[in-house]
Amino acid sequence: MFNRIQREVNDIFNRGFDRTLRLAVTGLSRSGKTAFITSLVNQLLNINSQGNHHLALFEPARNNHIIGVKRVSQLDMKIPRFDYDNNLRDLQQTPPIWPQSTRGVSETRLAIRYYHRDGLMRHIKDTGTLYLDIFDYPGEWLLDLPLLDLNFQQWSQDLQRLNFGQRSILAQTWLAKVEQLDLSETADEDVLAQLAKEYTAYLHACKAEGLHFIQPGRFVLPGELDGAPALQFFPLLHLNETQWQELKNKASSKSYFSLLTKRYDYYRQHIVKDFYQDYFAHFDRQIILADCLTPLNHSRQAFNDMREGLQHLFQNFHYGKRTLLHRLFSPRIDKLMFVASKADHITSDQLPNLVSLMRQLVQEGGRHVAFEGIETEYSAIAAIRATKQVTVTQNGKQFKALQGIRTKDKQLVTLYPGSVPNKLPTEQFWQQQTFDFDQFEPQPLVDNELIPHLRMDAVLQFLLADKLR
Ligand code: GDP
Repeated sequence: MFNRIQREVNDIFNRGFDRTLRLAVTGLSRSGKTAFITSLVNQLLNINSQGNHHLALFEPARNNHIIGVKRVSQLDMKIPRFDYDNNLRDLQQTPPIWPQSTRGVSETRLAIRYYHRDGLMRHIKDTGTLYLDIFDYPGEWLLDLPLLDLNFQQWSQDLQRLNFGQRSILAQTWLAKVEQLDLSETADEDVLAQLAKEYTAYLHACKAEGLHFIQPGRFVLPGELDGAPALQFFPLLHLNETQWQELKNKASSKSYFSLLTKRYDYYRQHIVKDFYQDYFAHFDRQIILADCLTPLNHSRQAFNDMREGLQHLFQNFHYGKRTLLHRLFSPRIDKLMFVASKADHITSDQLPNLVSLMRQLVQEGGRHVAFEGIETEYSAIAAIRATKQVTVTQNGKQFKALQGIRTKDKQLVTLYPGSVPNKLPTEQFWQQQTFDFDQFEPQPLVDNELIPHLRMDAVLQFLLADKLR
C-alpha cells in the first residue's frame, strides 16, 4: 500500500518536473536539414554506446549523466512524422545513399532520461525526463515574412526591382505571356493556373542556378498545398504606377487583376500567417543551417543571392519590440544557432574561416544587435561526415587533404579542396577563384548503426546541456 502511494506521488512529481523543449531546424533547401536531424537523432539514440566517444564535447554525455534516449509519439497528430527510419535505412545500404531532402514541415519527439546534478531538483528527485520535439521546416517559408506587411502592388514592385541579370533572363518566357494578358478581362481559371505553373517553374530555375531568394516561398515547396488555388497567382512585374491605379479603379471583381489580388491576400492572410501562428511562435530554440560552400563554387551572383536569401531569413529573428513579428506573434526563442553545414568538404585548418564567414553573413551591417535577448552561437559542422582527413606528403612537405568517394564518378579520391575566405569574398576572390570542391557519397556507418559526424556534439552542448542539469 505504502509503496503504491509512494509510486503515485513519485509519478506526479515526475510528470510535474518533466520538461519539454521545442527545437526548430531550418535552412534553405539542400542546406542539410534532413541530414542534420537524422544525425542528431542518431547520435542521441546511440548515447552511452562506445563510451560516448562520439559525443565528447557534449558534457552530459561525457559525464554519463544521460540514462537513455528513446523515440516516443509526437503530440501533434496533424504534422507528418520525420522519417528517421527510412533515412537511416538509406545510410545503411551498400553503398550508403543520401536520404530524401525536406519537403514540408515534419516532427519527431525524443524522451531523454537523465540524472539531476544541480540545484533543488537533485534533492527532490534524482532523475528527470526532457522531451525534445524536433521540427523540420523549409527556410523558403520564412522568406514570406515581408509579405505580411505588403499589399499586392508593393510586393510586385519589390520583385520588379530584383528582376535583372540572370533572373530577368530566366523570367523572360513567363513574363512575355503575362504581358499578353488583358488584366481587366474576366479571369479564366485555367489560364491563371497555367501562368502560375510557369511562374513556379521560373522559381525552380532560379534555385537550380543557385539563386535562393524566391517568393512566394511555398511555391517551390508547397507541402500539402500542391495544386491548390491559394498558390495560383504571381506578381505583376510589368505595370507602371498609372497602370496599377487604372486597374485598381476600373477592373471588375471577376477580372484577372481582382482574382490575382484576392489570391495574394488569401495567401498572406492564411498560408503565411497560419504558419507563423501555428508553428513559429511556439519554438523554444532554433537552428539555422546554411551551405556557404556550394555558392562559393557556383558564381558571384549565386553567393550574393544566398546572402540576400539569408538576410531575409534572419529578419525572422529580429525581435525588437516594434518589429512586425513581435507585434503579430510574440515569439519566444531564447537560443539561436547559425550553423555552416557540410564542413567535411574542407580540411580542419579551414574550419575557423568557415565559422568566420558564417558570422559575417549574419552580422553584416551591424545586424547582430537585432538578435538582442537571444543567446546566439556560430558553428561549422558535418552532420553526416562523408570524408576522412588524411595527411599527404608532397615534395617533402606534409599537408592536410580529404579522402572520400566522389559522387560524380564514384571513385575514391584524395584532394585538397582549397581555402575558404574568412570574410565576405571580395572582387579579387571572384577573379582568381580557386575554390573547388566535389560532392561525396556518405561513408558506411560505424557498426552499421552510428553516423560519423563533425562537431554535432558541440551543437548538442549549446542546445541541450543547460536543460539536462
Ligand atoms: P535539406 O533540403 O535541407 O533537407 O538538405 P539535405 O539534408 O537533404 O542535404 C542535401 C544534400 O547535401 C545531401 O543530399 C548531401 O548531398 C549534402 N549533405 C548534407 N549534409 C551533408 C554533410 O554533412 N556532409 C556532406 N558531405 N554532404 C552533406
